[in-house]
Amino acid sequence: MKLGFNEATCMKRSTVEQDLALCEKYGYEYIELRLDMLKDYLSRHKISDLQNFFKSSALKPYAFNSIEDINFCNTSQWEKLTELFRFGCEVAQAIGNPYIVVVPTMGDDMSCRTHDEIFSDSVNVLNHLADMAKPYEVKLAFEPIGDKRWCVRSLAQALEIVTAVNRHDVGLVLDSINLYMYNKLEDIDTIDLVPAEKIFVYHIDDCEDLELGVLDHCHRLYPGDGVIPLLSITEKLHKKGYEGSCSVELFRPEYWKEEPEDVIKTAAQKTRKFL
Ligand code: ZN
Repeated sequence: MKLGFNEATCMKRSTVEQDLALCEKYGYEYIELRLDMLKDYLSRHKISDLQNFFKSSALKPYAFNSIEDINFCNTSQWEKLTELFRFGCEVAQAIGNPYIVVVPTMGDDMSCRTHDEIFSDSVNVLNHLADMAKPYEVKLAFEPIGDKRWCVRSLAQALEIVTAVNRHDVGLVLDSINLYMYNKLEDIDTIDLVPAEKIFVYHIDDCEDLELGVLDHCHRLYPGDGVIPLLSITEKLHKKGYEGSCSVELFRPEYWKEEPEDVIKTAAQKTRKFL
């Protein structure tokens, strides 16, 4: 797999400009830009600046993060979501960024939704978004989020949905903490059931040893510093032949307080052994 950087990792301290320079310096091959940081960048730069950067750099754009809360939208939520999604598609096409990460809806009421309701809404929404993205040649990477506040939690559930969608431009994000937060990876063998061509993105992160329900995104750790069996995941992805980005994605407040250069350097060192 290729070393990738997800901008969530330094998002409170860094900028697109700085992340690009530091990822280049520390040998990352891919970067996952955040849409909010991209908007901030474009308030100071033109899109041609970004195109020129990628033209002359070994670092390449991989996936934008993220379009969130895609399920059960009312009209105004859907309008807002599709406006951001269109912005993402336009920039993605301009700079040759292949994927946009899309995330199921979070809410305390999500546990009241039935499996069938979530399934049919997800299939419907992913088809809508993929139709919109098609002219831009952008693919959708759907990311199950393990905690019970999210409506699509397990890899099996997400796989069932993208299998029903059945289009080459809709696949999955595997994120190690999200797989772990579902049931501590008791279902790790589900990874074997995912067709290789449906794995679009791999987010790597480790986490503290906490009970499910307490464990959250703020407890993410550098790969190798926590309790997730990352080597087993790597092994399964190798067996499958996945050669895309292994993007380190940390939402840890402590890391946000540190110098982005220190975090980006350490993340590269610690992630390399899981490629
Ligand atoms: Zn992720």
